Amino acid sequence: MAVLRVEPLTTARALRGPFDYRQPASMGDLEVGSVVRVPFGPRKLLGVVVELAATSELPPERLAEPIEALESGAPAELVRLGLWVAREYCSTPSRGLQLVLPPGTGTGGRTVRSKLELRAEILPAGEEALSGGGRLGVKQRAVLEALRAGEMSGGELATAVGSDRQTLRRLEQRGLVATRSSRLRRAPAGSTLVAAAKRPNLLPEQQQAVDAIVAALDGEPLQGRWAENVHMPDGIGPSAAGSAPKLLLHGVTGSGKTEVYLAAVEAALERGKGAIVLVPEIGLAPQAVARFRARLGDRFAVLHSALSAGERYDEWRRLRSGEASVCVGPRSAVFAPVRDLGLIVVDEEHDASYKQEGDPCYDARTVARRRAEDCGAVLVAGTATPRPETWLELPRLELPRRVDGLRMPPVELVDMRGADPRSGPLHPDTWEALEGVRAAGAKAIVMINRRGFAPWLTCRSCGHHWSCPNCDVSLIVHRHSGRLVCHHCAHAEPAPRACPQCASTTLSRAGAGTERIESLLSERLAPMPVFRLDSDTAAKRGAHARILARFGEAPSGVLVGTQMVAKGHDFPEVTLSAILDADATLRFPDFRAEERTFAMVAQLAGRSGRGEAGGEVIVQTLAPNASSIEHAARHDSAGFLAGELERRRLLRYPPFSHLVRIGFASEREGRLDSAAAAIAAELREALPAGSDLLGPAPMFRVRNRHRRRILIKAGDREGTVAAVREAVERRAADRSLREVSIGVDVDPQ
Ligand code: ADP
Ligand code: ZN
Ligand code: ZN
Repeated sequence: MAVLRVEPLTTARALRGPFDYRQPASMGDLEVGSVVRVPFGPRKLLGVVVELAATSELPPERLAEPIEALESGAPAELVRLGLWVAREYCSTPSRGLQLVLPPGTGTGGRTVRSKLELRAEILPAGEEALSGGGRLGVKQRAVLEALRAGEMSGGELATAVGSDRQTLRRLEQRGLVATRSSRLRRAPAGSTLVAAAKRPNLLPEQQQAVDAIVAALDGEPLQGRWAENVHMPDGIGPSAAGSAPKLLLHGVTGSGKTEVYLAAVEAALERGKGAIVLVPEIGLAPQAVARFRARLGDRFAVLHSALSAGERYDEWRRLRSGEASVCVGPRSAVFAPVRDLGLIVVDEEHDASYKQEGDPCYDARTVARRRAEDCGAVLVAGTATPRPETWLELPRLELPRRVDGLRMPPVELVDMRGADPRSGPLHPDTWEALEGVRAAGAKAIVMINRRGFAPWLTCRSCGHHWSCPNCDVSLIVHRHSGRLVCHHCAHAEPAPRACPQCASTTLSRAGAGTERIESLLSERLAPMPVFRLDSDTAAKRGAHARILARFGEAPSGVLVGTQMVAKGHDFPEVTLSAILDADATLRFPDFRAEERTFAMVAQLAGRSGRGEAGGEVIVQTLAPNASSIEHAARHDSAGFLAGELERRRLLRYPPFSHLVRIGFASEREGRLDSAAAAIAAELREALPAGSDLLGPAPMFRVRNRHRRRILIKAGDREGTVAAVREAVERRAADRSLREVSIGVDVDPQ
C-alpha cells in the first residue's frame, strides 16, 4: 500500500503534520509536491504531499483518501526548499510550502487553473462536404471554409465568421470537424512584442567575467586558467571557495553587469540548464524586462506581483513544464520551478527588498545560496555596492570602469552644519548648481528620503504637537492631499487650521519631505518642470513608469523623490544629482546604517553624468566625516568595506555573528511583558554557548499595540535558531499568551 504524508495548508501554528493518507487507486500516481484536498476531521483542507511511504503507523482501514488532486503541484526539490525555509526562519511548514506552490494555490479564494480553449480542425469528410455539395447550413459552410486555412480556436472562429459553440458541436457530430481542448496562455503584457536584440561586443573585463562564470558552470575549479581574474577575499583560499561556485560581480553602475548576466544565462541554456535572475522589485520596470525578453525570446518567463493571477499561474506552468527555462522576477522568483537549474543571478544584491517582511521573514539571497547548493547551480551576486558579508565571503569578479568610458562623476560634500537655517533645506551651493542645470537645459535628480511635506507639525503658541493616536510617532503633513498621515498605520486626518488646545492659527510645519522640496524647486526653477517620484505619486499601477517616462521625454527638468529616484533607470541627460540630508539613514540605531548610507549615496552618484555632458554629485550632510559618506564620495567601495568589516568584527555583528530578533506585540501590556520575559528567561538557559541575548527592550507603539524586542547575537546559527523555534512553538500552544503575537526574524535587516 502506498501512503501519502500530507502537510495541511493551514495558518494554525499548533496544527502540525504531516498526516498519513492512502493513495487512491483512482487518482494516478501522486508524488511529492502534489497538492491534494483531504478530509480532515469534519473539514476539508488543501495539503501538500511531502513524503511517500510504504507503511503507516495507523492501520490501513483508518487511513482516509484524498478527495481530489489539483492540476499542478510543486517539484520535489522545491518542497524540500519550502520546508527548509520554514525551519530556518522559524515559521510553519504550511507557510514555507505556500512559497513554492503554483501561484494562487489555497490562499483563500478560489484556486487558479489553466484556461482551456476549444480548437477545431477540418476533417476529410468536411472537405468533401464543402466540395461535394453536402447539405450545409450557412454558418456551417462558413466555419468549414475558414478551417480550410488551418486549425482555429472557438474564439477566432467566432470573430472571423460569427460561429457559435452549437455550430461546432453539430459539425463534430457529423464527423466533419474534430475539436480538442487546449491550454490557452495568458501572457503578460509585452510578451508578443519581441524585437530581437543584438549582442554588443563585450569589453575584455566583461568577457573575463563571463568566462569565469562559464568555467564555473562547467565545473572547472577556481585555480584554473581564469584564476587571475578572480579576486579572493582575505582569508579564503581558492580551494575553499572552489567547492561552491558562488561569485560576486562587483561593477560600478553602468559597467555592463546586465550584459554579463545575459551572456551567462545564454551559456547556461546552451548547456541545457535553466536560470533564475532575481532583481529588486523596482528593477522590474518594463524596459528592463523587455531587455531580457528580447534576448531570450520564448525561453523567458517573468513572475511578479503586477501580473494577473492567471498570467502568473501560466508563467509558472511554462517553467514547470520546461517550456520556458529562464525566470526573471523579484525575491519570490527564487522559488520559481525552473528545471535543471544551472545558474542563479542576484542583481543589485545589496537591495533591501530581497528580505521578506512578513512571516516567513526569508532572505531571498540566503535562499538562493541554499537552492544553488542543493541543485549544484552557480550563484552570481552583482552590485556596485556589495554587502560586507558578500565582500568577505565570495570570490570576486571586477568591472572597474563604465562601458561608455566616462569617468565616475566628482562628488561634492556640502556641510550643512554651517548653513543658515533660514535659507531652507537646500544649501546655496545646491541652488547654484541647479540653476546651472536650468541654464544649460539639462536634467537633475534630487533625492530626499522622506515623503510628504513636513515631518512635524507643532503649535507655535502652546507647543502642541500632532502625533498618531495609534502609534508613538509624529504625523506627517501631506499638503497635496491636505491631510496629516501616519507612516506606520493607516491613520489620516484633515490638516488642522488651528490648534485644538489654544485655538492659535500659527502652526509650524518643520522639516522637509519630497512635497516641500518639489514646491521649492518649482517656485525657484520655473519654467523648468519638476517631477515627483515617491510612493504617493507612484501608488497607482504603472504610475512609476509613467513618471520616469515623462522625465525622460522632457527636454529639461528635475526629478525629485525618495530612494526610488536612485534606481532602475538610465538618463544620459542628467548632469547633476543631489542628495539632501544624506545622513538621515545614519541616525537610525541600526548596525546596517553605515552600509545603507554608503549604498544610497553611491547608487545616486551613479545616476549622474551618464552622457557626454558629464555630471556632478552634491551630497548635503550634517556628517561629512562619516565613513560611509566620505568613501561613497570617493567611489571607494573597497576602502569603505575594509573599515566597515573591521568595525563589525570588533562589535561582533554579522558577518562575524548571526542575529535573531524576536518581536512581541500586544494591546495588553501586562501580558506582553510576561510573554517577553518568559521567553527571554527560557532562552537564556537554552541558547548554545557563545550567544548573547539583549532585551526584552521596549519599542515604540504601532497600531495601538505595545511592542518589545529581543535580539540575539549568535555564533552557532543552527543551534540558536532551533532553540528559538522551540521556545516560540511552546508559547504558541500556551492559551494565556493568545493575545500576544510573536514574530521571529532571522538575519534581520
Ligand atoms: P549595469 O547593469 O552595470 O548598470 P548595463 O549592463 O545596464 O550596466 O550597461 C549599461 C549600458 O551599456 C546599457 O545600455 C548596455 O546596453 C550598454 N552596454 C553594456 N555592455 C556593453 C558593451 N560591451 N558594448 C556596448 N554597450 C554596452
Ligand atoms: Zn496651541
Ligand atoms: Zn499610526
